[in-house]
Amino acid sequence: MCEGASALTAEQQSRRHHNMFLCFTLSLTVCVTAAIQAVSGIPWTQEKLSHRAITLTDDEIRAAVSHTDVEQLWQRDLRPLLVIRYPGSAGNQAVQEHIKSTLGSLGAGWEVTEDKFVSQTPYGPLSFTNLVATLNPSAKRRLVLACHYDSKYYPTQWHDLEFVGATDSAVPCALMLELARALDEELKAQKRSSPNLSLQLIFFDGEEALVRWSSTDSLYGSRHLAQKMALTPHPPGATDTNQLDGMDLFVLLDLIGAPTPHFGNQFPNTTPWLSRLQNIEQRLHFMNELTDHPDSVEYFWPDRPVAHVLDDHVPFLNRGVRILHLIPYPFPSVWHTFEDNEQNLDRATIQNLNKILQIFVLEYLNLRPVLPTGSQSAT
Ligand SMILES: [Zn+2]
Repeated sequence: MCEGASALTAEQQSRRHHNMFLCFTLSLTVCVTAAIQAVSGIPWTQEKLSHRAITLTDDEIRAAVSHTDVEQLWQRDLRPLLVIRYPGSAGNQAVQEHIKSTLGSLGAGWEVTEDKFVSQTPYGPLSFTNLVATLNPSAKRRLVLACHYDSKYYPTQWHDLEFVGATDSAVPCALMLELARALDEELKAQKRSSPNLSLQLIFFDGEEALVRWSSTDSLYGSRHLAQKMALTPHPPGATDTNQLDGMDLFVLLDLIGAPTPHFGNQFPNTTPWLSRLQNIEQRLHFMNELTDHPDSVEYFWPDRPVAHVLDDHVPFLNRGVRILHLIPYPFPSVWHTFEDNEQNLDRATIQNLNKILQIFVLEYLNLRPVLPTGSQSAT
């Protein structure tokens, strides 16, 4: 930007002064940034470790959950997902369109990118597509919510029976779509108010094994995307940080929708966030916002260690990303059976988890919902 000086015209001198001013401003910015970093003592990639979420007031929680509606989730988000959608099928393509058109219809302005690739499978080369929706692509740090949208493939002799994977993972995908719609106004505002922290939604293809689970026959989408993100500089042009460094926390939702799920603790380094989910569950319980929820804690158990479960988080975990794996243990009794269908879903559990997840996202993003006119915040 700084040019060498020679015999200069008035215009060149003016430009040169302008450039000198820019150089000075840039230097000042670099100095100020360095000073802030020196004071705080941490580079941006470490900010996630000391990130503090806000705690919404009761009025704010009521305002936030009033935007969500389980009937809307069911009809608009979930039903279109309850189709056979193994990689390469017509249903898989239709579900991609459903996800893209839902997010594209929102006011927050999601950037949706496709990660298309071909991978060798037991059935030969197959095409896969991950969908990555980012609220504010220029934000360095992202809270990530993820699910897989493919369904498990069953060979042709089973085709009079349809495997639609209602809990695996149509409901998690529907929860993410409903969250984006219910919080659309708040997320739009967050884009302006908090340029360094944003929300990213990842819909993986090819989570399921096509024949038998192995390191090469499973996690097709997440293995591809984790490798690609590790090789993509972030912010753009960075030389020593990549898109995985931008992930504050990777929240993977799987096998959700059956009654009485228990989410145990797989990863001690993210225990505080599982504890926060438990805390939100308790707050909503005492506010009578949860249905068929007899005790104040039914779902989230940070004090109960459970064994690691192989899932789409693994390629990210192996590269140092911090994981919150929201998968119930034990698995739903309908897991990988033809009974994993709409009839066996538990509406109350889905609505309860829907509310808890939305409050979690608002609090993590330091985002307060707009209160209806006339109501007052308690604190
Ligand atoms: Zn499965």
